[in-house]
Amino acid sequence: MKEVGARRTAGLGISIFTEMTALAAQHNAINLGQGFPDESPPEAVVAAAKAALDAGHHQYAPGPGLPALREAVAGHQSRYYDLDYDPDTEVTVTFGATEAIAAAVLALCEVGDEVIVFEPAYDAYPALVGFAGGIQKRVTLNPPDFTSDDPRWRLDVDRLEAAITPRTRVLLLNEPHNPTGMMLDDESLDAIARLCVQHDLIAITDEVYEHLTYGRVHRPLATREGMRERTVTASGAGKTFSCTGWKIGWACAPPPLTNAIRVTKQFLSFSGGTPLQHAVAFALNESASYVGTVAEIHLRRRDLLAEGLRSAGLPVSTSDGTYFLTADLRAWGHDDASEFCRMAPELLGVAAVPVAAFVAEPAAMRSIVRFAYCKPDDVIAEGVRRLQARYGHA
Ligand code: GLN
Repeated sequence: MKEVGARRTAGLGISIFTEMTALAAQHNAINLGQGFPDESPPEAVVAAAKAALDAGHHQYAPGPGLPALREAVAGHQSRYYDLDYDPDTEVTVTFGATEAIAAAVLALCEVGDEVIVFEPAYDAYPALVGFAGGIQKRVTLNPPDFTSDDPRWRLDVDRLEAAITPRTRVLLLNEPHNPTGMMLDDESLDAIARLCVQHDLIAITDEVYEHLTYGRVHRPLATREGMRERTVTASGAGKTFSCTGWKIGWACAPPPLTNAIRVTKQFLSFSGGTPLQHAVAFALNESASYVGTVAEIHLRRRDLLAEGLRSAGLPVSTSDGTYFLTADLRAWGHDDASEFCRMAPELLGVAAVPVAAFVAEPAAMRSIVRFAYCKPDDVIAEGVRRLQARYGHA
């Protein structure tokens, strides 16, 4: 048989999340690797899904998504961000935010176009840029000094500016940022916007952690001057309503961009998840009752994990948003986080994810690990106890 696999898939293995979750299951480890919460969505949201099933909503939704959900998404963008989108021509429902990003990249990136990706980069981005025949230009974020008083990841705007060339077409921004937990300050967002306008770039933003922020308020790039008309804002229900397996996402973008995304999306998955679309419409309309609580819960979990790791001698980064924080394992005498993560489920009973999985030159962030804190208090406490048993307790 000929060699199997198109060139565009070369170098893409099984995702680090799948690998680490399988190891966690195999060794009955506390899974602080793949980011998903253990709890169910709010009861009323689950009830809305059940009601939609009982009401017989079993067939295809319209290609762009249920009108009620598109209206709910538009309402959400307007209430939280003062961004007005026409549900008929500017909002598209997708199979999770990942499909929104996939459809946008495939629809808007020409073969040979350069796409700016901030690294560490969520693994789907380089894969999707590759599928589109684009060329990724990675802008590396500055890791924190983990021992300082303010251990935050940062964007170097000069480095971003230097990465833009006449062939750059798209900038992909994930904010709040996975895997680092970084949130950009207003000046950085403004600088990104200025560069997008100056170089006529299209921005695709992944904002799935928009409501999981701690003491900070998320601001979509589309709110910055000159950006609404050139931005595809992708988000989804999974993180906000603790239903990552529902895969209900959306893209908000001006009509020409939306048209291109809809054409592409219809041939990826057409449309689906109809009862769940009904439930997410309900959830978004009621979001005021949920978003404060979900952020509070994760803030407490963040602090529990961060303090637990610190007390075991591991300095961690400040996580302003997402489910994640990072740490430098050199404090525990490990300089290779990939090796650590492959042995940890079996030997320590804890799973995590190496940040090297999200960078092109793994050497650069070799010793940095990502821990997910989206777990119940007792699960985090048990994970910390296992790590303290091995690395000591202050
Ligand atoms: N977004 C989740 C994370 O970063 C994982 C999703 C996936 O497994 N692809 O952990």
